[in-house]
Amino acid sequence: MVTRAWERWAVCATEDPAVFYPPLNGVGRRPVKSDPDAPVWARAKQVCAGCPVLASCLEAVEQVEADEPTEPEGFRAGLTPGERGVRRQEIRAQRRAERAAAREESREPVLARGAR
Ligand code: SF4
Repeated sequence: MVTRAWERWAVCATEDPAVFYPPLNGVGRRPVKSDPDAPVWARAKQVCAGCPVLASCLEAVEQVEADEPTEPEGFRAGLTPGERGVRRQEIRAQRRAERAAAREESREPVLARGAR
């Protein structure tokens, strides 16, 4: 496993993993993963809010999870799985807009008749 330098200061390393991965309920699912205000995430939000490497963690999560969630059930970088899903959609939309702008910039200009 590759450890990035900033991970040395990750506050979650000393927390109970259940804070970030709430126990499964009776039907094998984690509770309320999409509700950012659900009490089950309160401690995780508190831990991440006080983490000195939150920005690096968020950047890493956004890079790794840009296309697919790698931790669909867990809390990472101050965000619930649902919040990361919303962020993922925003990033994809931004990338589409950037690609469209780049295509537009690389197009040959359409000259008016008689301009040649
Ligand atoms: S921001 Fe949260 S998940 Fe990321 S390293 Fe810090 S405590 Fe861990």
